[in-house]
Amino acid sequence: MTVNARLSGGCQCGAVRYTVSEFGRSSLCHCRMCQKALGGPFAVLVTAKDLEYTRGNPTYFQSSNKVRRGFCKDCGSPLTFEFEGWQPDITVTSLDDPTVAPPIIQLGTESRLPWCEGLFDLPSDQGNPDGQGPISYQHPDHDTTHWPSDKTEDGKYA
Ligand SMILES: [Zn+2]
Repeated sequence: MTVNARLSGGCQCGAVRYTVSEFGRSSLCHCRMCQKALGGPFAVLVTAKDLEYTRGNPTYFQSSNKVRRGFCKDCGSPLTFEFEGWQPDITVTSLDDPTVAPPIIQLGTESRLPWCEGLFDLPSDQGNPDGQGPISYQHPDHDTTHWPSDKTEDGKYA
């Protein structure tokens, strides 16, 4: 899928930022390696045909003889899945707008956790209606010119 403008994304702390303008297939992977690498029940990855880093670069872990995985060395956010000889995949949830690349196929289903099936039937908590939640230090979901000096006095990022 080609998108009209370059889309941005990055890690939680903002040390690594990237843009992409064309996506390949978006997939949901349940394999044990993706579970470990993402720290979640599955990974959602999309092929990024023209990935460019606009701030910093990932650090890599060679997770198999064919695959290395990129992450931010400062905050640990998982960013890429790179199969040798192929275009890299990025983690869909590291995009500033993760809704743009919904998965169209499941992979690694032999490792799918049995409790995944009923996830959306669980009761839900409505969060902090009084607005007394913690103050986020996470980089905002858009590019910043001066980082981390764009942080405001209350500790948030502009
Ligand atoms: Zn980071």
